[in-house]
Amino acid sequence: MSEKKPVPMSAVPQRPRCPVCGMPTYSRSGTHPQCMQASNDRLVRAAAKAPPPAPTAGA
Ligand SMILES: [Zn+2]
Repeated sequence: MSEKKPVPMSAVPQRPRCPVCGMPTYSRSGTHPQCMQASNDRLVRAAAKAPPPAPTAGA
């Protein structure tokens, strides 16, 4: 019935790309909430990376 016309690339508004996954995002922050969460989680994990457990010698 109604054929969709192919949208020319120039007509597509530039969307911010998520710095985490590199995919265009609709989010105003420019980052997918889930990606931000994952990034945060990774950062937190890296920052909270506990030092190697002390050797339990003679315990
Ligand atoms: Zn993303």
